[in-house]
Amino acid sequence: MIKLFDQFLNERELPDSQGKILVMLGPPGSGKGTLSKELKKNFGFQHISTGDVIRNSEDEELKKLVAGGNLVPDDLMVKILRQELKKLDLEKGIIFDGFPRTIKQARRLDRMLGKLGVGLNHAILLDVDEETSKKRISKRAEKGGRKDDADEEVIQKRLDDYEEKTAPLVDLYQKSRKLIKIDADKGKEEVLRQVTKRLGLKSKKEPSVEL
Ligand code: ADP
Repeated sequence: MIKLFDQFLNERELPDSQGKILVMLGPPGSGKGTLSKELKKNFGFQHISTGDVIRNSEDEELKKLVAGGNLVPDDLMVKILRQELKKLDLEKGIIFDGFPRTIKQARRLDRMLGKLGVGLNHAILLDVDEETSKKRISKRAEKGGRKDDADEEVIQKRLDDYEEKTAPLVDLYQKSRKLIKIDADKGKEEVLRQVTKRLGLKSKKEPSVEL
């Protein structure tokens, strides 16, 4: 009995800045990719962006689907994610950016992680106004030229899909006490500062943005 308790304590004391598994939640333009990159740079997380994986894929059908603002069907998306997951080192911590986007995907993620003997630690909700989202997306369109950022109808469809299909995940993660809500209307330094604090992360090196 005492042994078990000791073991429990030891596990609680494991250094927790690495080995974390995080999900980024938030509408298009909320800053999931930007924050993920900062967390990767400062704390050594690995980053899976399903949007990037699709955009870099050679599957033209898939790219066309996504450029039109459509979600990739769940089963296909899970298959793609499973392949990506194989490439990663679980010890280093993982940020899932753009996955899960539906309740079904969230359940499949739980199952996949469970099979690997790990679990999701936190879901970070980047909470923004629709106006902020739209402004950021049009800024990104000017700079980068993502097809799905250039058309107002496509943007609206993505925002509506988020409300209908992805926003229910907020409730799901709130119930399992995994949700960390961040005011993401703020600038990226402030968002990083809030997330660093809430997760209790300790930088391996000096953070690249002033905190
Ligand atoms: P954003 O967050 O701005 O929508 P992403 O780069 O995360 O951008 O995703 C771009 C597009 O890729 C989405 O609009 C969707 O079509 C597709 N996609 C990405 N992840 C998923 C997913 N988990 N399930 C279904 N479709 C996805």
